[in-house]
Amino acid sequence: MPRDKKKAKHLEDTLKLKGRLAWDQMQKSYRKESFPFAEDYKRFLDGAKTEREAVVEVLNYARERGFREITDPGKKRRIYWVNKKKNIALAILGRRPLSEGIRIIISHIDSPRLDLKQNPLYEELEMGLLRTHYYGGIKKYQWVAKPLALHGTMIKRDGTQLNLRLGEEAGDPVFTVCDLMPHLSRRVQDEKKLREAIQGEKLTILAGSIPFPDEEAKERIKLNLLDFLFRQYGLVEEDFLSAELELVPAHQARDIGFDKSLVGGYGQDDRLCAYASLRAIDSVRVPEYTILALFLDKEEIGSEGNTSAKSKFLEWIVADLLRLSGEELSDMTLRQVLFRSRALSADVDGAMDPNYQDVHEKQNAAKIGYGVCLSKFTGSGGKYASSDASAEYVAEIRKLFNDHQITWQMAELGKVDEGGGGTMAKYLASYGMDIIDCGAPLLGMHSPFEVASKVDIYETFRAYKVFFERKS
Ligand code: MN
Ligand code: MN
Repeated sequence: MPRDKKKAKHLEDTLKLKGRLAWDQMQKSYRKESFPFAEDYKRFLDGAKTEREAVVEVLNYARERGFREITDPGKKRRIYWVNKKKNIALAILGRRPLSEGIRIIISHIDSPRLDLKQNPLYEELEMGLLRTHYYGGIKKYQWVAKPLALHGTMIKRDGTQLNLRLGEEAGDPVFTVCDLMPHLSRRVQDEKKLREAIQGEKLTILAGSIPFPDEEAKERIKLNLLDFLFRQYGLVEEDFLSAELELVPAHQARDIGFDKSLVGGYGQDDRLCAYASLRAIDSVRVPEYTILALFLDKEEIGSEGNTSAKSKFLEWIVADLLRLSGEELSDMTLRQVLFRSRALSADVDGAMDPNYQDVHEKQNAAKIGYGVCLSKFTGSGGKYASSDASAEYVAEIRKLFNDHQITWQMAELGKVDEGGGGTMAKYLASYGMDIIDCGAPLLGMHSPFEVASKVDIYETFRAYKVFFERKS
């Protein structure tokens, strides 16, 4: 080889940044493990289609693995907290005092969906329908003409609670939003902008069509449905007013492709990262620093409310941990713990779609198969509303991942002026801790059928594991 060519090759090898496919870079054993891991993950997705169900799934897993509730008496190292049935936290006490800081991974367990309105039931053209109010950032056209399952909680007048999960078992009915046939949609849909073609108020759920036998009765379909709901569940119409009912895609998570290398399913934003952090925390025995996996709600609507990242749940957890470990419990120590902590904001990243590459700036975009994504910042426009991780912290995580042969990529969501989106990172950053966004790349984010690569899922798990296991 001529000298110049040899030198160029040498420089390319030593100086140039090269992204590598996880399939090429990962150890063979890890590649193999990513498939059974995905089987467990798909079961988790099928069981955890709402935030409440995700809490139950995480809780059952944690209990089986020796986690005990904070209020349980006696000494314990593996602890959990449940907050209002919609968010949960798992911790393992470390060797070092809490005042040196803890290691936190936050993910969210809510996903975009259709919620029932508080007074949903009506009748039109001898069909029973339910009105909905969508939750989170959906593209409305994606939610019509597909089978939907009804999940949620109703509290009856006497206070008894009814948990519904209808449309998941063989033989269950499903629900659907009917769409207009293409023969007649030219003016009311086809010529409109995509976002205006289907209005929020038209996302109504078909719920029945048999009339009450008395032909003299008014609204016979609605009456018959109410009669059914009372006989089947003991419900009256007023019970809907206090209910939380969510329509989610009725399909199960599936393998995608001839080679079964990808997972398709609902709610992978962000139950992918939630599941990876669950498995990661469980894989650690006695950590150096106390580790905490926090599964939060309401991220999709801006982390508002008492089960979200903006709630003060984390402060209660740290107070409990201080009490449990016998360290001084004061406002100052609590602040110190949080200030000295390090965190990963575990949320999925938008991967480049072969059909829509133009919305990304390819040199800085997330790619399927290239491992877990780090995002120094999120937000939109001029980094507005983002938590921007420091050079020092990014370098720290970069070194950690490199030292442990994690396949990872640095990514930002899209072109600078294309749009954007935030995560929960900024809410924890307000305590002064270091935090960076870290999660798997996803295709079709917020759609009823999101897609992730099995190697990226597994590398996300491995990344969280080494983060929890780190000694410094
Ligand atoms: Mn998310
Ligand atoms: Mn989201």
